[in-house]
Amino acid sequence: MYQVSDHTRSQFEKMLGLASVKEALAFIEANQPEAIEEQKELVLIEAPTGHEENRAKVFAEKFKALGLEDVHTDRGGNVIGIRRGTGKGPKVLIEGHMDTVFPFGTVKGVEEKDGFLYAPGIGDDTRALAMLLCLIRTLNKTGIQTAGDIVFVGTTREEGMGGLGGMKDFLADNDDIDISLSLDNNDMSLLVFEATGGETYEVNFYGIGGHAFGCFGKMAQPVHAAARAVAKIADFVVPSDPKTSFCVSNFHGGNDAGVHAIAPKATIKFNFRSNSQEELAKLRTNIFNAIEEACQEETAKWGQDTITWDKKLISSVPGGTQDMHAPLVETAYMGLSHLGVEPVIHRGGCTNANVAVAKGLPALCMGRAYAPDENSKNIMNHSIHEKFPITGSYKAIQQAFMVLMMAAGIDGEFDSITGIGAEK
Ligand SMILES: [Zn+2]
Repeated sequence: MYQVSDHTRSQFEKMLGLASVKEALAFIEANQPEAIEEQKELVLIEAPTGHEENRAKVFAEKFKALGLEDVHTDRGGNVIGIRRGTGKGPKVLIEGHMDTVFPFGTVKGVEEKDGFLYAPGIGDDTRALAMLLCLIRTLNKTGIQTAGDIVFVGTTREEGMGGLGGMKDFLADNDDIDISLSLDNNDMSLLVFEATGGETYEVNFYGIGGHAFGCFGKMAQPVHAAARAVAKIADFVVPSDPKTSFCVSNFHGGNDAGVHAIAPKATIKFNFRSNSQEELAKLRTNIFNAIEEACQEETAKWGQDTITWDKKLISSVPGGTQDMHAPLVETAYMGLSHLGVEPVIHRGGCTNANVAVAKGLPALCMGRAYAPDENSKNIMNHSIHEKFPITGSYKAIQQAFMVLMMAAGIDGEFDSITGIGAEK
């Protein structure tokens, strides 16, 4: 049973008791049609990973129209706008990614049917952009003065080979961010506070190569060396908590013309992940030790030539773990409970929040949608059949709003629940 500390509970209740917060929550509910309209408008501006410019331009205009300060696009293409606090709190980043996994020409329109919107990218993560705009409107409408600055960002290159690139650029350039909030889970009930780190490599094994019979015994075998390496990796035992995984996903050597040849080169590709940075590092060491051993064994068996190997990092996602009872995590738990959504503690995650967690920042990834049943949980993101449940979707924005207020603090009422910046 998850227990929320008295400190978090009492501050959360204090926040909920404020007239301005009550007004804000009511406004978000009433504003649902506008948020949905904006979501429909933005999804039509296609933004494949690495090609977010068109959407970024429109999004920046919306930031300006809502009165954010210093609206600009950074070197990574991220759209940034600031709503200043009193300076007595932490600098809080809240972001959603602008890119989608779909190439130009995929989105033909938005269909609305049976309480759902249908369009590729309608949820992931276009919805987050509409959520950010609604949050700004809410702050404007209520005139809430936060203690900390809030930095609103539409990030680029989150998906696929983008590898969280926009977020990496943004946090590399903005060392003053204290807290990071991401909006990128399908289902708002998921409490995501851990970040699954992972790496994908290509490793090549090299030898002389020659005739399968004529050269037998005179040279070592790159394909056999690769197989020895894979066999060793296959025998690894890794912890289930923190969840850790490994997978050799590609194995290749030789060609059809060379079915009677010792191939001079073999290639494997593999991915490994963990919710713990320590386990990830351990696994990395073990994998490369296994590869080195495999090459030495294959070399030693024949003694005529030396199998060498090299590696290429294909992609890497930073990770890390936070305390399940970190103040922000408890706050998110309280928020969901308040909204009548049963929180589901989710182990691990791979979103822009990873970059923040790996940096040691208090960070959360929150959900986009209210999904009380199987049909609305199954939004089919990354598929052209992606759908978004409209009914009750304002609750996801209310949740983001409450967490944002607890993170930033409200001037004259309460400090950031994280304690950061209170003495500024
Ligand atoms: Zn996403």
